[in-house]
Amino acid sequence: MKFGGTSVGDGIRIKHVAELAKKYKEQGNEIVLVTSALSGVTDALLKNAMDASETGKTSGVKEFIADLTKQHHKAAHEAINTPSLIEKVTNNIDQRIEELEKALIGICYLGELTARSIDYISSYGERLTAPIISGSFNSIGLDSCSFTGGEAGIVTTDEYGNAKPLEETYDLVKERIEPLLKDSISVICGFIAQNKAGIITTLGRGGSDFTASIVGAAIKADEIWLWKEVDGIMTTDPNIVPEAQPIPVISYIEAMELSYFGAKVLHPRAIEPAIRHGIPVRVKNTFHPEVPGTLVVKDQKQSKDIVKAVTVIKKVALINISGAGMVGTIGVAARVFTTLANAGVNIVMISQGSSEANISLVVDGSHLDSAVKAIKAEFKNGIIKEITPDRNISVVAVVGAGMANTPGVAGRVFGALGKARVNVIMISQGSSQHNISFAVSEEGSKRAVSVLHKEFGLDKAK
Ligand code: ASP
Ligand code: MG
Repeated sequence: MKFGGTSVGDGIRIKHVAELAKKYKEQGNEIVLVTSALSGVTDALLKNAMDASETGKTSGVKEFIADLTKQHHKAAHEAINTPSLIEKVTNNIDQRIEELEKALIGICYLGELTARSIDYISSYGERLTAPIISGSFNSIGLDSCSFTGGEAGIVTTDEYGNAKPLEETYDLVKERIEPLLKDSISVICGFIAQNKAGIITTLGRGGSDFTASIVGAAIKADEIWLWKEVDGIMTTDPNIVPEAQPIPVISYIEAMELSYFGAKVLHPRAIEPAIRHGIPVRVKNTFHPEVPGTLVVKDQKQSKDIVKAVTVIKKVALINISGAGMVGTIGVAARVFTTLANAGVNIVMISQGSSEANISLVVDGSHLDSAVKAIKAEFKNGIIKEITPDRNISVVAVVGAGMANTPGVAGRVFGALGKARVNVIMISQGSSQHNISFAVSEEGSKRAVSVLHKEFGLDKAK
């Protein structure tokens, strides 16, 4: 079970988490708990490290350290009932915060912040939280110890900020954590790990889902549960369509198609170990544990639902590249994509019609200017005549494995949009047939999403 930052937002919530896990344990389950930092703490650590290196002001560090101490002491007092346990945990917190303060002051004097020190500093969010959760378990009569990712056996590459687990991780975690399963709930820091030399690394922002999936795979868990503040993976963004429903069952492939489109519930990287070991992942709401949530599984038996979800991606921009000279000229696409890659542009969507007279691309909105500049420079005197950017667009994606080999889905999608008078600017469907994506004007995106959500009956609870 992994609990996200909002789930462990303060001591009262941590207490709720401990009681929740205890209940499942008493029903006969063996549980390992992976935790995030208290919500907002990772951001605050990163910001203060940056400030320290830029301003060199130790007074800023002192102030931050005082606040952080207060916040975690308060959490410990709220989450733990027994005075002796509170004392043990707050002593532990004080020790760790002292190390953190030294590191931040060092950064003030050095005036530089390396990738390695960023990982070291940002690891403290989880390292301060895990002992509070273990203390909370202890105070309700459960055996529990806390571990950093490295102590639990997660060994990674040296890619600070985005480290990958090495294969030996799986044996190490099994060796260290499995023997504790029966009588105890081990609490492991999400997000952080260590390299072969024992130096702290991190698995990338939001990395505690990844930790949960690594640990689950290592101990061959029956299920990996990701506790969040949503009722599951939703049919669409409830802020756009209030009738959005949690999806009861979805396949790994579908879940990944969704996360690409900013649903932000699961990162593909985070579920990769679960996929490789075929372990189902369940997304549940910490604040509504009675709601079943979403179960993410390997293969889903052919379901009646052709479309599972409709998602929208904003802050993107379209570039249309055209010129009669492009027709039949080999290597234009290669040059476009290489140029964009060299300019560090992330491409979201691609389409070229068979006339070959134009290529349309959707890129991250913040990359638009550098993308246009790079293509103009590359094709200064050549075959591309026009490069037209359009900032005012959104991409909508209709996702569902049931679309594969089902005729008429595209017809329904575009028919419904036509009836609602939504103009489609660009279309793309990969041959995996799990996802139909199209670009519409930003103003039209809300209507497009609502119309399609309704068209495919996603507004009805399953
Ligand atoms: N605390 C880390 C972050 O905010 C990891 C996580 O929350 O999953 O990125
Ligand atoms: Mg977080």
